[in-house]
Amino acid sequence: MESLRLEQQKLDKKGNLSKTIGDVQKTIDLLTAAREAVAADGTAAAPTLAKVKRPLKASLDQVNSDIKEIYSAHKDYSKALDKKFKPQPIPASHHDALSSQPALTNRAIAMHLLREGQFDVAQTFLSELESRPKPARHDQDEDSLMQDGDNIEPSHTDFKIPGDMQSQFAHMYTVLDALRRHHNLDPAIQWARQHSHRLDQRGSNLEFDLCRLRFVELYCQDNDPNDYMSGPLKALEYARQTFPNFSARYMRETSSLLGSLAFAPALTSSPYKSVFYNNDAWEHAASSFIREFCAMQGLSEKSPLYTAATAGAIALPVLEKLERVMGEVGGQWTSVNELPVEIPLPQSYLFHSIFVCPVSKEQGTDANPPMMLPCGHVIAKESLEKISRGNKRFKCPYCPVEGHPKEARKVFL
Ligand SMILES: [Zn+2]
Repeated sequence: MESLRLEQQKLDKKGNLSKTIGDVQKTIDLLTAAREAVAADGTAAAPTLAKVKRPLKASLDQVNSDIKEIYSAHKDYSKALDKKFKPQPIPASHHDALSSQPALTNRAIAMHLLREGQFDVAQTFLSELESRPKPARHDQDEDSLMQDGDNIEPSHTDFKIPGDMQSQFAHMYTVLDALRRHHNLDPAIQWARQHSHRLDQRGSNLEFDLCRLRFVELYCQDNDPNDYMSGPLKALEYARQTFPNFSARYMRETSSLLGSLAFAPALTSSPYKSVFYNNDAWEHAASSFIREFCAMQGLSEKSPLYTAATAGAIALPVLEKLERVMGEVGGQWTSVNELPVEIPLPQSYLFHSIFVCPVSKEQGTDANPPMMLPCGHVIAKESLEKISRGNKRFKCPYCPVEGHPKEARKVFL
């Protein structure tokens, strides 16, 4: 890696056009000066041209040698890259899980574009999919293709995106833009109020967080140094109108906010400083809004395509190594939906808990799922069958409670 870093430094120093641009400018200056001399005195044309010939050639040679240097710096860097990262096939390309599900893949791409606010690109993508010619099969001659009108290739367009998805996301971006760029809470508060009931059901704090921000905003507004109560009074009025709606769930927070009024003249040295001077609160509200907005549409907070692609990129080196090792030992993956190695992913990319039976130390599968015993301990189904010797009463391996296999329940992770 060190040698690559050195090459990178060399490329940064030599692989740019700044010197060449200077030398090209010198050539232009030479020619401009000659043209002006000729324009000023027509009779001087021949001697001027003769005089400029030699420096012009030298200047052009200089430009050429500049470019050579850049070219060689690029060549060296690309050689170093090739040496470090040997060209390798992308792992698992021969069992490409995506190719059998083009419609789902295309849906994920279209939805990703919509949720990123790339509406034009999404529309182009969808209309190009529609107008795409049906894929022809290469293993047939023309006659049989003509006889066989059925398209047995999986369809690329067999998916639906709810018709209002684009307008929903357009609305989301309007609200976010107001919130992030203009610190304008109105559209977000309006949205939260419209969905108040469902937000409450989800246990979301969004509506209250937005109203707290509004309280802080009013508090700090129009702070006339001669009339320190101007902002706080407005905040108090707002609190009187709004806080009763929240008092059941946010009693502590609302009374604490009202308590801040007592510190109005010296807020910065009060215990409320962190509430009032918190730059993260806006971004926090914005990401909470995205989360709740997507949840209302039945969508996850992050684009699944983004999550899958990022997790895939993180996993790539392990998969690559796995395939290489498997290739060397001639091994095969035994289970279809599982990888034989652990792929370390950050916590935020873990979605499915894995169960390992404490008795057999085996990982749970569809055929051997975790089972909860009447005492609450969980073991794998096969272990349960073993300790109950078919279908008899048994004692839990971890506590004295006895049970019958019938009383055990399958656990879904
Ligand atoms: Zn037990």
